[in-house]
Formats: sequence, structure tokens, C-alpha cells
Amino acid sequence: MLKKIVFISIFVLVLCMPVNAVNGLGLISPDTDGLVWSTNIIFMGSFLDSGTQTRGNILENLVMQEYLSDTQLTRNILYLSRLGTPMIVFGNGSEPRVMVVAGVHGNELPAQIASVKLINYLKDKKINGTVIIVPFVSPTSTAKNQRFWNDQNLNTLADKPGTPTFQILKLAKILKIDILGDFHSTQPNADPGRDSVFCSKSPTPESYDLAVYISQQTLSDLIVFENSGIEYKGAVEDTANLAKITAVTCEVLSPHGMAQKETIEKSFTQMITLLKYKKII
Ligand SMILES: [Zn+2]
Repeated sequence: MLKKIVFISIFVLVLCMPVNAVNGLGLISPDTDGLVWSTNIIFMGSFLDSGTQTRGNILENLVMQEYLSDTQLTRNILYLSRLGTPMIVFGNGSEPRVMVVAGVHGNELPAQIASVKLINYLKDKKINGTVIIVPFVSPTSTAKNQRFWNDQNLNTLADKPGTPTFQILKLAKILKIDILGDFHSTQPNADPGRDSVFCSKSPTPESYDLAVYISQQTLSDLIVFENSGIEYKGAVEDTANLAKITAVTCEVLSPHGMAQKETIEKSFTQMITLLKYKKII
């Protein structure tokens, strides 16, 4: 097992990751004290910060502080967040490869807490394939409980080079991600204002199949668009689908800047269902 870590730009990361090589994601060094690994984690590190300045201290957000479980793995993630956008990879690098993204909007807290819960949950699980988790896209936004990054909506910028969401999509393409779930929350009386799953039928029809599955399994409303990139240009989901990476956006009903046990659990269930769709767990 590799007990090493490196903090690298996405470009170095890419150089280190021949996608088809088992443990290709794990070519990492040097040693860093205090990081605890489990046998099924093949990469744990930070990326993006040199170009996009995403780093932040998540614990400055008191809601996050209240709800994050205090485990060594959680501490690792918080540590990595102070260096950039954290990413944890479970499995062996093989297909199917599923990516879980949270925190595109920094003040949508249930999904971010749920993704840390998912990381702790997967630690001891057998993984059939590969799971890549980005729990906080922009730790600096999450730390300040702010929706935007540099006053910009990251869910409109995934097609704009140099932005954090663009870099995440770039990574998803290089890693040949099969399925991507982008997890948000939505305020009461906002659009959509309900637990829901967004998808589009073209050009990646499996987006619809995946959304139907999650909708049925989690009692989330199904919201279908015919074509990606029209209503939500630059969204993570749309940009992924346009790149033929099957993607959905999952929403839970929760006021911004807040979280509750129930909303965290709902988001967690949506994430688990995404993994079950590909029989990863
Ligand atoms: Zn959002």
C-alpha cells in the first residue's frame, strides 16, 4: 500500500496518471506525516490551487464544523482543503469509474457533508471499479459559506478554461470517467425547490437512464431536458454530458448556508444510489 501523498497541480497529476494502469492514480510522493490511508484508497491529494486559488479552512464554516464526523480521514480531507481542492480516489483504477462532485456552490452544505460521510463510509468497503470524490470544489467558498467563487457561479463556468469546474471536467475526461454526479441543494421556493435529479437525453442518453434510477430509488423528482447545454450552459452536468460523460445533477431541498441530519442523509442516499447504478458497491 502506498502511504504517500503529493500536492500537485492538475498537470503533474495528469502526467502521473496513465488511466489504464492499475494504481496509476497512486504514483504519489513524498511521505507526509499524519495522513491515514485505508487499503482501498489509491490517491489522496489536492489540486487546482496554483491556478485557481480554491484553498480554504472548511472549519471556519461553523455548520460544517458541527456536522463533519471527526475521524482521521476527515482530518486528512480538511488538511488537503487548506492546500487546494481535495480529491480522494477509491478502488483500483479500473472501470467503471464514477465521480462524485460536491461544493460547486460553497453554501450548499448537505452534499458537502454527505460526500465526507461517503468517503468515511467507503473506507472499509469493497469497491468494484473506481470512485473519485471531490468533496469541496472550492474550499474557500465553503469556508465563507458563500455560493460563489471569486463572485462567479462555478456552475456556469465548466466550459471556461482556467476555472475550477473546467479543471474538474478536464480531469474527468482524462480519467475516462463513466458516470459523474454533481450534488447540490436547492432552497424552498427556488428553482427547482424540491428533492430532484436533473438529466438530459441528448447527446448522452444514459444521463436519462441514470436519473430515472436515482429518482425511483431515492424519491427525488425527475427533471428531464432534451438537450444538454441549453438551459444550463456551463453547468458541470451539461458540460460533462456534452463531452459524452454520463452525468446528472442531484438536488436536496435545504436552505442555503445550512444543513440538517435529514438533508445530509438524503444527499448521501443519492450518492450511494449513483454508485449502485454501476454496481460499484
Ligand atoms: Zn447549487
